[in-house]
Amino acid sequence: MHTVYLSLGTNLGDKKHNLVSAIKEIERRIGPVRAQSAFLTTEPWGFESENTFLNAAVRVETELSPNELLRVTQQIEREMGRTQKSSVDPQQSKVIYHDRIIDIDILLYDDLHINTKKLTIPHPHMHERNFVLIPLKEILLTKDTQQ
Ligand code: AMP
Repeated sequence: MHTVYLSLGTNLGDKKHNLVSAIKEIERRIGPVRAQSAFLTTEPWGFESENTFLNAAVRVETELSPNELLRVTQQIEREMGRTQKSSVDPQQSKVIYHDRIIDIDILLYDDLHINTKKLTIPHPHMHERNFVLIPLKEILLTKDTQQ
């Protein structure tokens, strides 16, 4: 079994419902959720939008490999209706972010370091984003919830 930390964010529709649904799908397809942070309202980061975000982090036990985990988190995003991925503006080499129903990022996978085209773990921007760090800090040292 592996221990992974995931970050979730949403800024469209019924945000609380989006987080609850995504966490249910994580539990069903990835593995038992051992810890869950409070939901945190934050301002959009890296782009302009009127829609604030609701963010959370979870700790999950899984048998999936890192690539399988990415495939499943992206499947959940797609099935929940996320259409636009972040993209890179070729002229300014800047990432372009969009409003989203759900975004699931892999923050940590055991103590692995991975740097491939598809996957970077630990997540490369986690240390600069309070919306990731605050929920993550809340669950990093907590005990597993009783099953
Ligand atoms: P986004 O649109 O922000 O969800 O970015 C998704 C893209 O980031 C995908 O193409 C992934 O292959 C890539 N990616 C790289 N590292 C990670 C990670 N640790 N967690 C999630 N996506 C990642």
